[in-house]
Parts: sequence; structure tokens; C-alpha cells
Amino acid sequence: MAPITTRFAPSPTGGLHLGHAFAAWFAHDRARAAGGRFLLRLEDIDRTRCRPAFEAGIVEDLTWLGLAWDGPIRRQSDHFDDYRAALERLEGLGVLYPCFCTRAEIAAEIQAAGGAPQGPAGPLYPGTCRRLSPAERAVRLAEGGDHALRLDIGKALALAGGGLTWFDEKAGLQAARPELLGDVVLARKETPASYHLAVTVDDALQEITLVTRAIDLFPATHIHRLLQALLGLPTPCYHHHGLVMGEDGVRLAKRDKALTLAAMREAGETPAGLRASLGLAP
Ligand code: GLU
Repeated sequence: MAPITTRFAPSPTGGLHLGHAFAAWFAHDRARAAGGRFLLRLEDIDRTRCRPAFEAGIVEDLTWLGLAWDGPIRRQSDHFDDYRAALERLEGLGVLYPCFCTRAEIAAEIQAAGGAPQGPAGPLYPGTCRRLSPAERAVRLAEGGDHALRLDIGKALALAGGGLTWFDEKAGLQAARPELLGDVVLARKETPASYHLAVTVDDALQEITLVTRAIDLFPATHIHRLLQALLGLPTPCYHHHGLVMGEDGVRLAKRDKALTLAAMREAGETPAGLRASLGLAP
């Protein structure tokens, strides 16, 4: 067995930028330095935002950067059955509940309550649909209304037991604190999987041993660790690296068209020059 397996997992929702180049090189270099495997996964479950043209652009950009990945590309949209099976298992454990709330209803509920605890991505879900009685829930489901599936974090933690930990190469041993993210969505109205669910299932199915990604996803790992415990999946090692910032000190985003790798390529930049500017060894 290869000593380590890493992956680069972009979403084809726009052009890759310098931050993606850093993440891809980082994962690639770690695998290659150890004689391990480097995999490419396209996180394309959001069918409304992903485009084939962006996917082609990712392959073109990575090839230009000189990156070669092992095996075929894993496209998440080809694997909804895997995510459905994981949801069924969680459903069987009784840790999911249907959520019928719209974004506007959630915002109104939070305002009426005078606020809500803050999670890493904004206020936490106030638990409205968790408190529906079984009868109310049955009526709403029978009406056939659209709904998402949320993780009942209290029940899930009680079931998984305390003492869950995970290891980050930079930050060290972490006590898992999934409650920081609240009752996260695991399946959406229009998509039978969410980022948290798909990434946890895929990292296990692809036998990833070292998950490398940017620090903005550090809090998400608390939820992934809990899902691993509930689904009986192994826990990889993690390395959350820094974000590449623009000259204005603000993190790069897909909307910054001028800073895409495609634009840099056209402007005459070279992969070697970009590596040097990112502080990566030649
Ligand atoms: N698809 C995510 C992104 O493009 C990365 C997910 C991960 O590395 O876990 O930001």
C-alpha cells in the first residue's frame, strides 16, 4: 500500500486561481515526496453552479501547472448512490430530520429570537424543524413539500459518545467540536448530498490518508470527524494550510477574474514563476 494518499478537490464553479494552484501543488508535493498517490476529485454536486467548461478549464490549468494525478478523476455527480447509502445509514441511526425552512424563514426566526449563536459561516440554524412533533412532521412530509435533511447534532453526539479527536499536522491534536457548526444540512432540496456528507464519504472511499486543504475549512473537519464516527469510516490525518491572499490582503475568490490561472497564463506567467511567488520549492 502507498504510504500516503492525498487529493485536490476543486468545485467546477469558476476558474481556478492562485490559491487553488497552491492547494493542488501542496497536496501533490506531499504525496510525491513520500512516494504516495495524488488524486483529483471534482466536487460537482451543485448542478446549478457547476459547468462542463469550468471542469475542462480545471484539467487544462492543472496540466499547465505540470500536475499529473493518479487514476481516473472522481466526479461526485457520478456517485450520488454512495451519498444516498450514507444518508440511509444516518437515517437508520435516527440522527437526521427533515427541514422545511426557507432561508428567509430561518432569518426571520433568528431575528424574532433576538439572534442565534454564531457558527463559522454565520448564525447557527435555530432548530425550528427539529422541534416539530412527529404528527406535524408527518403532515408536512405527506404534503410533499421540498425539504432538506439536517443532522441533529445533539443526538449525533450522544450516539457517537465523547472523546472524538482528529489530528492536524500544523495545529496538533484536536478535540472534535462539531456542535460549533450546529445542525448542518446533509442533503438539500435539489441535491441529495451536501459538501460535508460527500467529502466525508469520498475521502473514505478514495482511501485518502492525508487531507490537505485551506484553513477556512478547519471548522468543517469537526463535523467530518463526527460523520466518520457515525458512518464507521476511518479518520485521515489533516493539514489545513494558509490561504493565498491578494495584494489587497483579501483572500482570492473565483470572482477575481484577473487572478485566474487562465488569465495569468495568458499574461505570460510561468508555473515556475508562480511556484516561486508562492514560496514553493522549484
Ligand atoms: N471543494 C472544496 C473547495 O473547492 C474543497 C473541499 C476540500 O478540500 O475538502 O473549496
